[in-house]
Amino acid sequence: MKALGKVDIEGRVRLVMEGALTARDRVGVQDFVLLENYNSEAAFIENLRRRFRENLIYTYIGSVLVSMNPYKELEIYSKQQMDRYRGVSFYEISPHIYALSDNTYRAMRTERKDQCILISGESGAGKTEASKKILLYYAVTCPTNDRMAALGDRLLQSNPVLEAFGNAKTLRNDNSSRFGKYMDVQFDFRGAPVGGHILNYLLEKSRVVHQNHGERNFHIFYQLLDGGEDDQLNTLNLERNPQNYRYLVKGNCPRVSSISDKNNWKVVMKALPVIGFTEEEVFAINNISNLARLLGVDGSALREALTHKKLTAKGEEMITPLNFEQAEAARDALAKAVYGRTFTWLVEKINQSLALKDEIYHSSKGSSVIGLLDIYGFEVLQHNSFEQFCINYCNEKLQQLFIELTLRSEQEEYETEGIAWETVQYFDNKIICDLIEEKHKGIISILDEECLRPGETCDVSFLEKLEDTVGGHPHFVTHKLANGKTRRVMSREEFRLLHYAGEVNYNVNGFLDKNNDLLNRNLKEVMCQSDNQILSHCFRREEVIDQKRPEMAATQFKNSLMKLTEILRSKEPSYVRCIKPNDAKQPGRFDEVLVRHQVKYLGLMENLRVRRAGFAYRRRFEAFLQRYKPLCPETWPNWHGRLADGVLTLVKHLGYKDEEYKLGRSKIFIRFPKTLFNTEDVLEAK
Ligand code: ADP
Ligand code: MG
Repeated sequence: MKALGKVDIEGRVRLVMEGALTARDRVGVQDFVLLENYNSEAAFIENLRRRFRENLIYTYIGSVLVSMNPYKELEIYSKQQMDRYRGVSFYEISPHIYALSDNTYRAMRTERKDQCILISGESGAGKTEASKKILLYYAVTCPTNDRMAALGDRLLQSNPVLEAFGNAKTLRNDNSSRFGKYMDVQFDFRGAPVGGHILNYLLEKSRVVHQNHGERNFHIFYQLLDGGEDDQLNTLNLERNPQNYRYLVKGNCPRVSSISDKNNWKVVMKALPVIGFTEEEVFAINNISNLARLLGVDGSALREALTHKKLTAKGEEMITPLNFEQAEAARDALAKAVYGRTFTWLVEKINQSLALKDEIYHSSKGSSVIGLLDIYGFEVLQHNSFEQFCINYCNEKLQQLFIELTLRSEQEEYETEGIAWETVQYFDNKIICDLIEEKHKGIISILDEECLRPGETCDVSFLEKLEDTVGGHPHFVTHKLANGKTRRVMSREEFRLLHYAGEVNYNVNGFLDKNNDLLNRNLKEVMCQSDNQILSHCFRREEVIDQKRPEMAATQFKNSLMKLTEILRSKEPSYVRCIKPNDAKQPGRFDEVLVRHQVKYLGLMENLRVRRAGFAYRRRFEAFLQRYKPLCPETWPNWHGRLADGVLTLVKHLGYKDEEYKLGRSKIFIRFPKTLFNTEDVLEAK
């Protein structure tokens, strides 16, 4: 190949750079740290808008990936695209979920350190799609372990099954996950996926018995009715029309144009054997989908249990009849319990199928893990209740972890590079976490106490107790305490938390019931006699005999969150922040108000500020020199001296002043990189 002369190259690079700079007006910057006005929310949103218009849905904030839901299929997820991103460093080609997947994988391989990818965003923003793309990337690009060849398959196939039972159509997303999910993928010493494990959080059980207008129950019910064979439905004594089932039409929309229940049913039925479900188990699952009948229990015992309550008082058993509403509540509680426990069983089964077999475990020394967290983002609805309280508490915890881990990794990098640590000012939200979770004094403890306290307790007495106990807290407000100080009028049934991301009003109605989550003991007794193998597994005799009260819902959730943060803390994190462009689920529409709201609640401006407070740009010497050496006569075509000297020559030539950069042991740090470092995806954009 004919070598190009120096002038040639310089001229060409310059042309490209200039072209890129004008194109930049069109497509924005690929990393928000490059925004000149990094404190301006307007500039941030304008950048998102420009890129969205050009179908550039991914943008970085340093190592955080911001993703916009395009609401249309883009041609950017092919095998060729996967190959482009393999082994390429983050900044060399345009931002992509594959770049993040690949970098995470390589960090795990080279540093031998467990990784995790945290995906957040509100409902419909694209979290689940992102997590599926990451899994697909690993399933396609990683080497396979011969003995575990089917593992990648099983990982992928577990998705449609979990989605059938855990997802539903909501107003905000036709395929909304109604549970939080953390999945570990385990790799062996050669980097082949060999095992997996799923933890699930807070399934929205109430959906089984109630759906808001325009929403549906979990997909699986409609799939069975639409896709099941005639014989199958006959055996189960089911009719095909969902209109015949009260639990399925509360939201008045059993059919959704974007969803083919029949096809999805086929997908699920194909997936079940792949993940190792036996024929009997598949049949038993179908049985459960028919909650109304066929619970496999004695009919009259069930009727008795549904209409009466059994209490033990002073060692004596008392049986009292329930009134109509109480009996309805008992029925609903049973349906929720059956569904919730079946879901847990399903996850257990999938875990058994993904589990490392012993022999492989022993031969997989030096293996590592990548964890994927797909969990509900901050939620602020018109009416916020117990569920939003739990969800937002979860986000508060994750934000705390984000701060802790970001600062930790910054500090570690500065230390290894021998650069003096500079403090970064940020808002520490520990104070809000404490308000919610502190033992004896936190909101959850007070809620539990109120649930246990004998006598007349109700949601309002819970609110009063809160006012007495945490009323003085700077992040807690109620109608009584507000004293006209807040702009928004509050009702007497609300308390307001000033979350790190903003204010949310919670209505206390239903808090006690939802936290209690009780099932009458005589219903449990009937259920544990079921001859459905799944149900008899889910309802154990011991539970009926054991008089100890199980943990309440909020405390259970708190404990599982503690465990989750422990798991995540032991790993190296990467972040994907998902944004949805409009509420209409339509391509090409950018609703600025909606986007601004999400930028705020995802804490992206704060994120950018922390990133910009230190050195926004850092590259290894080799990479930096290799990429930009044509821009400086002394470093072109090759630098023969020490790498650090070459980098120094180059960076001075580019016009940086001494205080604008630092050289570490192996990397150059630049406080604020100039625009020329933002050419990669401009060049790719059409
Ligand atoms: P979330 O899990 O955040 O609630 P989903 O991942 O289920 O949201 O995404 C909602 C819908 O948006 C998907 O069903 C899909 O139609 C669309 N979507 C999300 N991400 C993408 C993407 N990268 N490309 C195309 N469509 C997407
Ligand atoms: Mg989801």
